[in-house]
Amino acid sequence: MTSLDDLPIRDDLRGLTPYGAPQRKVKVALNVNENSHGIPEDVAHDIVRGVAEAILTIHRYPDREFTDLRERLAGYLGHDLTAENIWAANGSNEVTQHVLQAFGGPGRSVLGFPPTYSMHSILSAATGTQWVEGARDPGFEISPETVVREIERTRTDLVFLCAPNNPTGTGMSLETIEAAYDATDGIVFVDEAYAEFMPTGTPSALTLLEGRPRLVVSRTMSKAFAFAGARVGYLAADPAVTDALRLVRLPYHLSAITQAAAIAALGHATEMLAMVDDIKAQRDRLLVELPRLGYSPWPSQANFVLFAGVADPHRTWQDLLDQDVLIRDLGIPNSLRVSAGTEAETTAFLAALSGTDGALPAQN
Ligand SMILES: *Cc1c(COP(=O)(O)O)cnc(C)c1O
Repeated sequence: MTSLDDLPIRDDLRGLTPYGAPQRKVKVALNVNENSHGIPEDVAHDIVRGVAEAILTIHRYPDREFTDLRERLAGYLGHDLTAENIWAANGSNEVTQHVLQAFGGPGRSVLGFPPTYSMHSILSAATGTQWVEGARDPGFEISPETVVREIERTRTDLVFLCAPNNPTGTGMSLETIEAAYDATDGIVFVDEAYAEFMPTGTPSALTLLEGRPRLVVSRTMSKAFAFAGARVGYLAADPAVTDALRLVRLPYHLSAITQAAAIAALGHATEMLAMVDDIKAQRDRLLVELPRLGYSPWPSQANFVLFAGVADPHRTWQDLLDQDVLIRDLGIPNSLRVSAGTEAETTAFLAALSGTDGALPAQN
């Protein structure tokens, strides 16, 4: 049998492990922060109509500039953005890859702040960009002073900020993002995959785009928009940034089917986002209930909660899986992450967890 090591693979890929959140068929899947509320049936029918129409011209390549989709996304984001400010791809993972291909690469480096989204370092490795780790403040926060200190210490070509941060749920002030921008000559990339779950009134990094051509704000339809299976992510930035991304994308990277589905879904944004308040309520319920079971959740501005106080995370993860509940073990000591699901799923998770006896003994 040939193993990967027998192949003439790039030296810098040897020994790496691929992204690998376990995919299992379970009753209660709260492991990858999906929106577990399905989409309304009338929206589904509209999407199918849009896709059916696209199929009639599927013998042609799709609009390489996905202009309609970019207009829709600009309209959804607001903030006076236009299609020229928008880029999209097959998930924000591909958007991130485009940014690294254009602004990173061999001989270049990117600063990230672990624990953070694992794909940021994986995509850095895949594009030959050196991943450099910055230190957070206690409680996973990043103050303006800290971000400046870490940027001055590492002098990377890109700075990746994840706000709210996955897997901790930590929010980030605009002051920190502004300070990061002023401290570097490089690209500042803010991953706002969970922006729609932030407390009402929390400003987005989109408000900082004006006059900051090196700032990039990425979003996704995978989470709040309940569209994970369709693979649509996007970013907003200065039009010069999108010009740079055109140099690295594959021609026609967004299929006609993807474009049609996303355009139809965006036409129903209010309905697609109707469950966000429900999900936030379940997240806040987790924040209240987990301490009652002896665990210590971190504050969260996203649709998931990281909780500490787990005596043996792998054992508790397995105990839950044995009860058909799948959550996420990210290797953070004494911690596990759970997505906020429907009310019934959250109830099932809490019931299963209360039977595991997995909390560390209380400290006095
Ligand atoms: C889930 C997630 C994404 C989404 O990736 P897609 O490719 O759009 O599905 C991006 N960033 C973070 C931080 C995430 O947690």
